[in-house]
Amino acid sequence: MHKSLEQLDNEAKIILEKFDNNSIKMKERTTIPLQEMPTQDPSVRITNMEEVALGYTENQVKVEAMRCLQCKNKPCIEGCPVGIDIPAFIASAAKGDFAKANEKIKESSLLPSICGRVCPQENQCQNYCTVGKIKKDVNQSVAIGRIERFVADYSREHNQDVTPSVKSQTKKKVAIVGTGPASVSAAADVRREGHSVVMFEALHKAGGVLVYGIPEFRLPKKLVEKELDSLVDMGIEINKNFLVGKTRTLDDLLKKDEFDAVFVGAGAGLPKFLNIPGENLIGVFSANEYLTRSNLMKAYDQKNSFTPLFNSEKVAVFGGGNVAMDSARTAKRLGAKEVSIIYRRSEEELPARREEVEHAKEEGINFMLLHQPHEIVGDEKGFVKGVKVVTCELGEPDDSGRRRPVEIEGTEQVIDFDTVVVSIGNASNPLLKQTTKGLDVNKRGNIIVNEDTCETSIKGVFACGDIVLGAATVILAMGQGRNAAKAINSYLSEK
Ligand SMILES: Cc1cc2nc3c(=O)[nH]c(=O)nc-3n(C[C@H](O)[C@H](O)[C@H](O)COP(=O)(O)OP(=O)(O)OC[C@H]3O[C@@H](n4cnc5c(N)ncnc54)[C@H](O)[C@@H]3O)c2cc1C
Ligand code: SF4
Repeated sequence: MHKSLEQLDNEAKIILEKFDNNSIKMKERTTIPLQEMPTQDPSVRITNMEEVALGYTENQVKVEAMRCLQCKNKPCIEGCPVGIDIPAFIASAAKGDFAKANEKIKESSLLPSICGRVCPQENQCQNYCTVGKIKKDVNQSVAIGRIERFVADYSREHNQDVTPSVKSQTKKKVAIVGTGPASVSAAADVRREGHSVVMFEALHKAGGVLVYGIPEFRLPKKLVEKELDSLVDMGIEINKNFLVGKTRTLDDLLKKDEFDAVFVGAGAGLPKFLNIPGENLIGVFSANEYLTRSNLMKAYDQKNSFTPLFNSEKVAVFGGGNVAMDSARTAKRLGAKEVSIIYRRSEEELPARREEVEHAKEEGINFMLLHQPHEIVGDEKGFVKGVKVVTCELGEPDDSGRRRPVEIEGTEQVIDFDTVVVSIGNASNPLLKQTTKGLDVNKRGNIIVNEDTCETSIKGVFACGDIVLGAATVILAMGQGRNAAKAINSYLSEK
């Protein structure tokens, strides 16, 4: 049953009346139930683009923080790619000192309101949590991400966020290519040392995937704008509509524009396709295009946006990752009557976060598991009219450790669809490689770097995030961004 925010808040209030954070015994902490995240009702949320998860109430966050055992060996920190002092910030949250909790997080992570929403905590910090281990269920771990989200939102809403301090101005200047999470964290840490920082963004809005990819209903764009404003407050310049490799080459930045170092955080924005017949038909989109139209170009807001909306009744989404879930749930909100995820393995192998799969199911997304698309079928005018699929069964595990899908002979069938969104992953855009002599990339097109310093094959050029890792996560991109900034700062001090 879907519980309302008021119900969940009342339940938390009763627990707070029973236990006091100063005197509660360790054993009692483990009896407190995990606080459920209040969400919009599924039947309502599919009619709007507003955030699905509403965030904990103050009572809930105090109760959830009380579940933390303050373990001496702090195993959860081991699972955090940026090493946040998790027990310390949770201890402050349990006392209701949210400003102090936020300050603690911000020592290690610049974007807590974003990470609290989109990080796959169940594979990271929460996977190491003692409470989850005691309960033998990672889903029962302390909800570290939800507490982080509350603390960051509270501090922002109460104007308790402080702009990071910047040392006195040096004469060095650094160019940052891209404005995604890798670039944001690198830019901030370089600027803190007093160097001038100029960011270059190909699109007309800054923020990378946080702005053009992840939908509004999972990550409100006003939060991303707010975080980027704090970069501007630090004195960082952001140049939009500037494509490095076309507007200026990387060489130009180093030699003609006299930047002392360049950081490349250009992401993995080149969509992959299945290379099956019919992928050029009208009504076939890459997930990148589909989500960009909706998020960045606001196609969902037909009254105020000039972006045309492709009218869909029956949408097929190929793939089973977070991007596929985002595409399917977006299609539903854009008015499609039926939306189906077509994935060649079973539910167990779905790479998307469990929470996203559950939310998609609640919203009526259909899961055609163990099906492999063979062809997109078109009508005489070149529009999509169906997808030819074949049924699969699971065989032996492959290199990824997941069981391999094996097609079953004689099971081919054509199912009616009028739209297809291909969401099977992204690769690096080759533009920078093509326009920069001496920039080494691997066979996938990812820039090759020294793992510790993020230095590329060109002196003074550093890179990290998805352009190095392939499509990864926000927090990994941020963690690497900090490492790169450290290396850039020491390179500049020696230069
Ligand atoms: C739909 C979607 C959903 C996702 N959901 C999650 C999630 O829930 N949790 C999670 O942790 N991760 C998620 N990810 C992955 C995560 O967003 C990325 O790993 C992360 O954004 C990578 O950061 P980045 O800074 O390396 O690159 P990006 O965020 O891709 O930013 C790169 C920026 O560089 C710009 N750029 C590229 N080339 C140039 C150039 N030549 N000149 C100037 N600018 C350039 C691009 O326009 C872009 O703005 C998702 C990804 C997608 C696509
Ligand atoms: S492992 Fe879990 S219980 Fe222990 S300190 Fe970290 S969050 Fe708290």
